[in-house]
Parts: sequence; structure tokens; C-alpha cells
Amino acid sequence: MKFFRFESLYQREGWLAPAYIGITPTGTVAYMNTKPPTGVAENMIEKIAGHALAGFVNAHSHAFQYAMAGLAEHHPAEAQADTFWSWREKMYEIALKISPEALEAIATQLYAEMLRHGYTHVAEFHYLHHDTDGNPYKQVGEMSHHLLKAADKAGIRITLLPVWYAQGGFGQEPTEKQRRFINQSLEDYLQLWHHVHKLASRFAQADVGFCVHSLRAVNQEQLQQLAILHEQEYPHLPFHIHIAEQEKEVEDCLKHYGKRPVEFLASAVKLSPAYQLVHATHLSPTEVAIIAKSGAQVVICPSTEGNLGDGFFALQDFEQKGGHWTIGTDSHVSLNPFEELRWLDYGQRLRTHLRKIFTHGKEADSAKLAYEQAIFSGRRAVGRTDLRNFFEVGKPFDALIIRDDVPLLAQTAPTYRLATILYSGDASWNLGTWVQGHWQTLEQQHKHKVSILAQFREATTELRKG
Ligand SMILES: [Zn+2]
Repeated sequence: MKFFRFESLYQREGWLAPAYIGITPTGTVAYMNTKPPTGVAENMIEKIAGHALAGFVNAHSHAFQYAMAGLAEHHPAEAQADTFWSWREKMYEIALKISPEALEAIATQLYAEMLRHGYTHVAEFHYLHHDTDGNPYKQVGEMSHHLLKAADKAGIRITLLPVWYAQGGFGQEPTEKQRRFINQSLEDYLQLWHHVHKLASRFAQADVGFCVHSLRAVNQEQLQQLAILHEQEYPHLPFHIHIAEQEKEVEDCLKHYGKRPVEFLASAVKLSPAYQLVHATHLSPTEVAIIAKSGAQVVICPSTEGNLGDGFFALQDFEQKGGHWTIGTDSHVSLNPFEELRWLDYGQRLRTHLRKIFTHGKEADSAKLAYEQAIFSGRRAVGRTDLRNFFEVGKPFDALIIRDDVPLLAQTAPTYRLATILYSGDASWNLGTWVQGHWQTLEQQHKHKVSILAQFREATTELRKG
């Protein structure tokens, strides 16, 4: 076992300072105390000049979209409006070109960047299943396999969510541009899902969940078939779905089903804490109450939602009803978890002219409440059960280490340390990130940065040609 001494380590009860951590050769925490282990010489304890925070879960990712981060901000003069739907057209152009190898190269660079920013686990909402002509690969899980390899090389945990996408919109055939996403029958989807499940089992830090793209991408019967299978055979696995991101989607759902999206979903399936509702931007007060009561969670992606002009989630109402939410970076236009939390908070402050937004319970430390929601709901969003504390003996050591020589932080009392990190920090404050008891990034550098970058360059250069 190796021993480390951190300046401090954040737990539910506050900062342990200093924090002595013993880590087994397999990366699990075996010792955690403010006192050094007895019988271990001082020079056998490695000193880390930083404060340890549990690593974040990025609960919503479409890895391939990283290839277009920053490329959708030139708005044509003649266009009446550049909206989510026109952005989606650009996104489809990229989606139609990416080879399995390019996907792996882009995802590896992306995951390395996620680690550098403090994410240690990603939920990959993956719908790019078929080849560029829309035919299944010889191995149906080919693209998924490359994502698993990307996560493995980068050193991030992955929960791969093979997406079921069967139709182009409510009651509509798929469009030509959606050809890589489509599995029309449950059998086809399950063939893919089981293959991906098997592939994931070969990787130490990978697992899977269920996923339906959105209410517009499957019909009611399909949704219910998958929900029943999930409930009967895999209730411990998460079930993700995009919902109510756009007002048009709400209107279309009302037209097709006579119900708003969450009302319809709750009437069609048995909502439970396994359900992860991504975005849930446009909700009625009744729908906010339905989600909170069911224990289903909301995955909010503030920087992407801001970039796409989606709208504001009903955070205060949801918090007051005891709802669980976490964060994701979705299109990856931004990759900083603290920025996501700030965007979420500030959007609400600007809208309400109030400063106390995370009102869940009686506590009033915004940073503590936001961080607890992000971490523990994030873990639930990927089916994890380590919910007792941020770090636990017997669990892997996954951490973001914040430098202790940041001038502002060095002058800040422990009571305000988390809030200072969350509201004032940026990635330059990160000393490094650990997964399974090992540094994956240190001093802003990933352990495999040279080969990751070379492959990323090649893939994006090819993709951006012509
Ligand atoms: Zn998404």
C-alpha cells in the first residue's frame, strides 16, 4: 500500500486536514485519517501540495460533437434565425462523416480534457451506431468499441449508453441524415445493446446503461417495451432520455400525444430514480412535481443549453420539491464542471434577481449544496452506489486535486474554500486528476498526451477538409 498526505480532503462533514490516504495497489482507499498511519515512516508518505475533491461525473456526453465545438458560431447574414434546429443540421454533417478510428481519436482527446478539468467518469449517450451509409458494421457495436477504447486509453470511467433511435420525429420516418442512428425494432436495438454490454465487460472501468434518444425518436409501444425490460431485468442500470429541451418538442408532443413530454413519459413508464431526464428545460409546475416525486433525476447541461438557446430549467421549484439533479457537458462547448455549476446558478440569479438559488434543505452554502448534488446525483446517474460520502474506505480513489499555492485560495479559511474553488476557480487551479488511485493528468498534462494529440490532429484535419 502507498500512503499520501494531502493538505486537505473534502467530505460531507467538511475538510479533513491534513488528510492521510492509504491506497492499495488496485487503487482502492484503505486508510483515511487526519493522523498518519502508525508504523509508517514519515519519508514513506508522499506529500501532495493540494486539496482533494471527489472527481465529477459528466452525466451527459456526445463525444463526436467535440469535433464541432466552436465551429457553429458564424451565423449567416441571410438566416432569419440560427436555432437549435439549424445547429442540428451542422451537427448531422459531422455525424455523417466520422469513421470509427476518428471517433476514437476525438473521444480520447475529449476524455483527456475532461480529466484535466476534473471529471473522472463520463456517461456517453451514444447514437452513432452504423457506417456512413447507414448499414450496421460487421460487429454491430463497432463504434461503441472505439469509445470504450478511448475511455480506457484516457483513463476515465465510462458508462456507455447505447441509444435507441427508431424514427425521425413524432410519428415520422427517419430522415436520410439520421441513417447512422437508426434501429427500427427492439430486437435490433437489443442485439446492439447486448454486444456493447459484452464489450464493456472486457474493460475494467466501463459499464453500460439503457437509453432512448427522446420521445420523438421512438413510439409509445417501443418506449414501453424497453421500459418493461429494464424494470424487470436491469432495474439497477440507469435509463437516460433527452426530454423537453425545445419548445417545439413540447408542442409536437402535445399534438401527438395530447400531453406534455414529462406528463406523457410518466403515464407511459414507471418513473424511478433510475431515470435520468436530460435537459427537462420546458416543464410545467405539475411536471416539476412529477419528476421530484418519482425520484427520477434531471441532467442539466448549462453551457450547451446556453449555447443552443434552450432556456432555463425550473431549478428553484425542483430544489424546493427535493428533486435530484446533476450536470453534463453534452456538446462539449465547455468542459469545466465549475463553470457548469456557475452557469446554472447565475442563469437563475439573473432571472430571479435573487442570490440564494440552491435552497434544498436549510443549509445556505451554495457551493456545498451544488457540489453535493453534482457528485451524488452524478453517481446515481451512472448507476453507482457510493453515496455515503465523497471518499470511502473500500472504494476507488478518484479525485480532482486543487493546488494549494493559488494566491487567493492560500488566503482563504476552510469554511470558504469550496465556494472559492467553485465560484472563482478555473482549470489552472487544478494540480491534477486521479482515477483508481493513479494520476491521469498532472500539472495540466495527460500521461499519454503526445500520442493522443497526434491522433486527434489527424482525425480533425481529415474531418475538416472541404
Ligand atoms: Zn444530448
